[in-house]
Amino acid sequence: MASSERQEGILLPSVNGKTRILGVFGFPVEHSLSPAMHNAAIAALGLNYLYIPFSVLPEDIGPAIRSVVSLGIIGVNLTIPHKERVLPFLDRIAPEALAVGAVNTVHNDNGQLVGYNTDGEGFAGPLNELGFGLRGKRAVVLGAGGAARSVVFRLARENAAVTIVNRTLERAERLAEEARIATDFVRGGARVSCLDFCDRAGLRDALAGAELLVNTTSVGMSPHDGDLPPIPPQAFHPALFVYDLIYNPRETRLMAEARAAGCRTLNGVRMLAWQGAAAFEIWTGVRPDVCVMEAAVEQQLGGR
Ligand code: NAP
Repeated sequence: MASSERQEGILLPSVNGKTRILGVFGFPVEHSLSPAMHNAAIAALGLNYLYIPFSVLPEDIGPAIRSVVSLGIIGVNLTIPHKERVLPFLDRIAPEALAVGAVNTVHNDNGQLVGYNTDGEGFAGPLNELGFGLRGKRAVVLGAGGAARSVVFRLARENAAVTIVNRTLERAERLAEEARIATDFVRGGARVSCLDFCDRAGLRDALAGAELLVNTTSVGMSPHDGDLPPIPPQAFHPALFVYDLIYNPRETRLMAEARAAGCRTLNGVRMLAWQGAAAFEIWTGVRPDVCVMEAAVEQQLGGR
């Protein structure tokens, strides 16, 4: 067996006729951190479950997701490229996932496939835990892709004032409009505006009054660790919390510069563990220890 295929530090669970199956559908799926994270939670709780990675081609998502019912699989996570494609094949979709337009968790509820999106909880949970409530905050969100959608919808629901900053401005404008429509129940309407990634003066002004900066772009992600979103110098201030959803590297250049300017910072590892814990609870009814899941992620990342 090649050393890259060797199981390092992973205790294999005992599988028997009563073992219940969970998993992740992705393509590619080899680099997913979810199997280590969920199997660690299962082991810590002593449950008879097993979480397996499934390599599912984009065009196979329909039959693959229906096989969750026929094989009696309890639930699966979905990662690239299935999060949007899976929607037509589900029986029910939870309101947050419907608003975001993407599903990262499917539960086989007695033969009914129910879709959820736990990224919003994954994003907000670690902040709440640190005593940083989102309600009414002023936030700047870099990016308008998949991760940004969960972040912006969650912020808008919390009546935060959000500025979306994106390289492709039309994409930011579309997301802002969708967030306004989806949260028109928020008193006074959702306060969402947009900026071009290159509008340095606009960005400086937005950050001057902001309490939260969230990077949802892949700028600064390994192997491009030296890259930095175009934050103007002096835009960081100690009242700004800088949350980078990237988890590899553990400290991005954005986080390092913010920390040097006195900002509190957080990377994406805790979010990954929180969204996983929320999915785990949907499937099993048991809330796992998020610290166990986080430690499993850290252990996997340690080898990268
Ligand atoms: P995505 O849908 O592909 O969106 C990527 C975003 O980054 C878009 O807004 C894109 O702008 C922007 N972008 C990419 N390259 C850029 C560049 N060179 N300059 C400026 N903007 C650039 O990806 P995603 O799924 O949202 O993931 C984005 C990041 O979030 C990744 O680093 C991912 O690891 C992280 N993430 C973390 C978690 C977690 O649990 N911690 C969960 C989900 C995602 P355009 O619209 O102009 O293309």
